[in-house]
Amino acid sequence: MLTVKEKRDRLLEEDLCDHCLGRQFAKLGHGLENYERGAIAREIEDLDEDDFVRENIPEDAEVGGECEVCQGVFEELDRYTEMLTNAFDRHDLSTFLIGIRPPEEVVEAEEELWEEHGIEWTEPIKTELSRLLGKRMEAELDIKVDFKRPDIMAVVDMREGKDRVELQVNSLLVYGQYNKYSREIPQTEWHCRNCRGNGCEECDWTGKQYPTSVQEEIQPPFIRETNAIEAKFHGGGREDVDARCLGKREFVLELVEPLERDIDLEELQEEVNESQDNVEIFNLRFAEKDEIEDIKQKHADKTYRAKVKLEEDVAEEELEKLEELVGEVEQRTPHRVDQRRADKVRRREVYSVDWEKTGEGEIELEVAAEAGTYIKELVSSDEGRTEPSVAGLLGTEAEVETLDVIEIEK
Ligand SMILES: [Zn+2]
Ligand SMILES: [Zn+2]
Repeated sequence: MLTVKEKRDRLLEEDLCDHCLGRQFAKLGHGLENYERGAIAREIEDLDEDDFVRENIPEDAEVGGECEVCQGVFEELDRYTEMLTNAFDRHDLSTFLIGIRPPEEVVEAEEELWEEHGIEWTEPIKTELSRLLGKRMEAELDIKVDFKRPDIMAVVDMREGKDRVELQVNSLLVYGQYNKYSREIPQTEWHCRNCRGNGCEECDWTGKQYPTSVQEEIQPPFIRETNAIEAKFHGGGREDVDARCLGKREFVLELVEPLERDIDLEELQEEVNESQDNVEIFNLRFAEKDEIEDIKQKHADKTYRAKVKLEEDVAEEELEKLEELVGEVEQRTPHRVDQRRADKVRRREVYSVDWEKTGEGEIELEVAAEAGTYIKELVSSDEGRTEPSVAGLLGTEAEVETLDVIEIEK
């Protein structure tokens, strides 16, 4: 293996600029830029890895220069900084990351250099370019490089004929909880079954199965304030269209390609809640990307309130039998569920059942059950597919008239 001095001596024959020379020693020394390493490597005859320190930087070390490898890209840093500033101009951002597509000839020349002299201590030219441009942008716009989840990822395409900046704008995520007070709207927009969203007579040319949804009641002011191109709604599960939700269901509203990020969540919450009666939202805050998966995979236990119609009236004492619902229930995939879903038996736990006779052939149930329990089928038995069931235990047909989710475990 070559010593630092030996490698430097060989590299000097390549006629490299300070950036490209210094980059071959990028892993040596701290707090230096490669052009400073290059200048040090040129200056100190008996070069050793301990020599890459600030005190050794020659006074005339400077950014820029040109050689066979970089072909002068470091002379263009001001121009690229200006391109980036223009590209960021419309966007309200506090963090960013810069990616580089260097000119093809530069990549080839760099690979040849590595083949000739080895890759020890080096870094790729695109790493150097993105760091230099990142620092300039930080100073220029008072924004911060963020490697994990930047507001904007900017790719500077330096290839011949491209010479442009491409932006990938990360979504702005808002966490919240909602209650749904309508028995007529779904959680998200449904396409009309007849025309699949194109618009037809049946849907009054709206393309929609329902005139509105939880998502559509919530999102408009958020889209308006952020100038996002669209919003995506990620719910922590969903209730049936005809079920109310009073248990504050978690959701993340994803605002896609927003121009503004500095929005007043409290104000928007109030606006949503005052503008309509179908939905109420609570506890808004900004969210991280992984919270979408988190709330989707939570499988929260829930408590339901169901108004149940019995075909035949059942005496108060007989209702005691409902205690037997507590424990494990077996549910074959319900008839009403999408036929494409696998027909299988699921076992779910019912934690508690409370009942009250509210009229002739009418009871109200409060059921606490494991995530994924089908409550309508727990009542009706779904032709024997759910066991035990209210209908089975009472020996009469039973049907949920209205259903509310009243508690969701968090
Ligand atoms: Zn160079
Ligand atoms: Zn239609």
